[in-house]
Amino acid sequence: VLEAGATTMQLRGATLVDGRVVDVMCAGGVITSVAPTSAQPVCADPIAAGAVPGDPGTSQHGDAGETAEVVDLAGYLLLPAPAEPHAHLDKARTAAVVANPAGDLAGAIAAWLDHRPGLTVDDLVARGRASALDALAKGVTALRTHVDVAADIGLRAVEAMVQVREELRPLLDIQVVAFAMPPTVGPEGAEHRALLRAAVDAGADVVGGCPLIEDDGRAATEQFVALAGDCGRPLDLHVDEVLDPARLDLVHLATAVEATGFDLGATASHCVSLGVQPVDVQRRLAARLAAAGVGVVALPLTNLYLQARGVAVAPPRAITAVAALTAAGVTVAAGGDNVHDPFNPLGRSDPLEAATLMVAVAHRSPCEAYDAVSVAARRVMGLPPVAIAAGAPAELLAIRASSLSGAIGSASEDRLVVHHGRVVARTTVTTHLATEHS
Ligand SMILES: [Zn+2]
Repeated sequence: VLEAGATTMQLRGATLVDGRVVDVMCAGGVITSVAPTSAQPVCADPIAAGAVPGDPGTSQHGDAGETAEVVDLAGYLLLPAPAEPHAHLDKARTAAVVANPAGDLAGAIAAWLDHRPGLTVDDLVARGRASALDALAKGVTALRTHVDVAADIGLRAVEAMVQVREELRPLLDIQVVAFAMPPTVGPEGAEHRALLRAAVDAGADVVGGCPLIEDDGRAATEQFVALAGDCGRPLDLHVDEVLDPARLDLVHLATAVEATGFDLGATASHCVSLGVQPVDVQRRLAARLAAAGVGVVALPLTNLYLQARGVAVAPPRAITAVAALTAAGVTVAAGGDNVHDPFNPLGRSDPLEAATLMVAVAHRSPCEAYDAVSVAARRVMGLPPVAIAAGAPAELLAIRASSLSGAIGSASEDRLVVHHGRVVARTTVTTHLATEHS
């Protein structure tokens, strides 16, 4: 167990993306200065000098009468911390017991609905906590999780994740989305609408739902916007997680936000079918989303896994229209979505995995891809922006790398994570090679 670090801290000799080597001071949860490093050149023989290879050394030193922790980050790239804008902690780590032989979205939903009623709070808390800590070790200091709300499970999953959020509050910021399951529309939806409001009363931070699996996607979308407004909460919907171009609930979301002036923060997750629209449709809708302030979250790993099954020739890329959205000025974040569950048997809980896919699948540059999993991810979550600059929140990831491409490409596990100006996670890796020259 890592003891949480001091509240005043100097990160010494870290490399920034632009190549500068700097010392970064943190105090009171914010970065107070970024200056050219005062560190001595790296010792040629760290073992003789008493350092542990691969472990960023720490020491205490007096600074203006106050003791600050010094963390030696020679050999590390320092980045604004990533964030996870779209997780499902209630589903994580169930792949071994919830099979989805079809491998598609319908198969995943059917398998999950069969399993869900038996979930207990203890099991939900244990899996949710473990999955959140996996993400923390990778650098995630803010995480938004969708959590099922339905008659068969009641508020159990929401109560469990609210418990996890409070328990882990010193380590990372968790946002709980009350993810209302169908039906929510009309008289038959009354019970789930009441549960959604009860979930907010029980501590959920955000209103969520999935118009795609409601009988009337347009009515559901309009109703979710109204419910979020009534509850005074941001909205984050699963939208158009399908390659069928005839399905475009995203239009209804834009229209509802425009019509109501909803300004508490609207996010559309997935938006896969936007990616298969004609380019003029993409551009027109992207402009409306930008004007309405609706952010979009791309979830490449899960959507590449679930969609386009059975398409033998030139299967489409199941990802939203990232280029058109970005060009219009829409905030486009990227997330990991499911981890080891019937919706995705894999996943590393690592934003660098999503960033890699944004490069390969959406043709973003490494810099744009890292922005999608850090700055943009926090923006769609309504959190203050991160940067390596005085005055910015001290939310940081140091990773053993010398460049951003190297960091994303190699995704070294060797990382140090800072939240609220304190070291909250550290992973060290030591490699031994059987060569005389190592
Ligand atoms: Zn999701």
